[in-house]
Amino acid sequence: MNILKSLAAVAVTSGLILGSASLVSAQDKGIIGIAMPEQTTLRWNSDGAELKAALEAKGYTVDLQYAGDDIPNQLAQIENMVTKGSKALVIAALDGTTLSAALQQAADAGIKVFAYDRLIRDTANVDYYTTFDNFQVGVLQANSIIKGLGGQDGGGLTGGPFNIELFGGSPDDNNAFFFYDGAMSVLQPLIDSGVLVVKSGQMGMDKVGTLKWDGATAQARMDNLLSANYSDGAVVNAVLSPNDGVARGILSSLRGVGYGSGGLAWPIISGQDAEIPSIKAIIAGEQYSTVYKDTRELARVTADLVDTVLGGGTPADLDTTTYDNGVKVVPSVLLTPYEVDATNYKELVVDSGYIKEADLQ
Ligand code: BGC
Repeated sequence: MNILKSLAAVAVTSGLILGSASLVSAQDKGIIGIAMPEQTTLRWNSDGAELKAALEAKGYTVDLQYAGDDIPNQLAQIENMVTKGSKALVIAALDGTTLSAALQQAADAGIKVFAYDRLIRDTANVDYYTTFDNFQVGVLQANSIIKGLGGQDGGGLTGGPFNIELFGGSPDDNNAFFFYDGAMSVLQPLIDSGVLVVKSGQMGMDKVGTLKWDGATAQARMDNLLSANYSDGAVVNAVLSPNDGVARGILSSLRGVGYGSGGLAWPIISGQDAEIPSIKAIIAGEQYSTVYKDTRELARVTADLVDTVLGGGTPADLDTTTYDNGVKVVPSVLLTPYEVDATNYKELVVDSGYIKEADLQ
């Protein structure tokens, strides 16, 4: 299969060079390589499919690859896309810092690089970045926790003290820092004033990060937090979770020690991605909230940007201040994320067609 794929790729490349009509139609605008991280976090499946469809509709041939959460595998896939003569690369990086040499090859070959959802740091060879307002994602998560505890947006929470534990995303994902910093911009003042108490004392991405966004890793850490800090009968009132997969790991741990039954209420737990199992958990009153990011829109916007840039046009309305990757500010498109809970999931994620009502039964 791989040999066949490579032969096809060679044929496509030579078809382009020779102008032959063998595999490439006259309208074919060339190959776009799409490098996606993994398929366990449900969103990446639809990101990949939507991007592929949108680019094909514009006349491109798409080489869509998933790396299975394996960093060397993603590097090899991207090197292969460069060799195959892709015109542009759309990359949702596992660990952007490992891609520098491959991106240099891409730049040398005149290939445009679009960081997709996750910024690629410490290289000049990333041309554009399309994402959501990631700091705002964290703000929404924290505000929903405050709302769930009976307070108001913007840190208006009194009473307590409420016990909260903090989880972050994967430390090799630049987004994880934006989510955490956004959340802490709201939570830190309440921790400082004593309204919120982090009983474990574990704060900062170096302590609360969840490698690979892995739910089982989060579950194990929550187990440890519970046994070390809550065996005296103290109750966890809230948990900052950076996404839905991590939230479900945290929920499993809490369920294991009796939360959600026998008068022990679920803590207020945040999330991200509006994944079907988590919307179900929200409806069931287990998870409090998630953050909905319309990945269909991100795919469409990215495909439009790729097409504009490859067509020699000048993209409009880019953010040129927010995302400094350590070498340069990468011109970005920032889409809007939305907080979703039991009161508005229907309007936001069902009525918009993001999730089918039938899938929530
Ligand atoms: C994305 C999130 C996702 C996480 C894990 C982040 O970079 O922005 O939507 O939950 O990766 O895949």
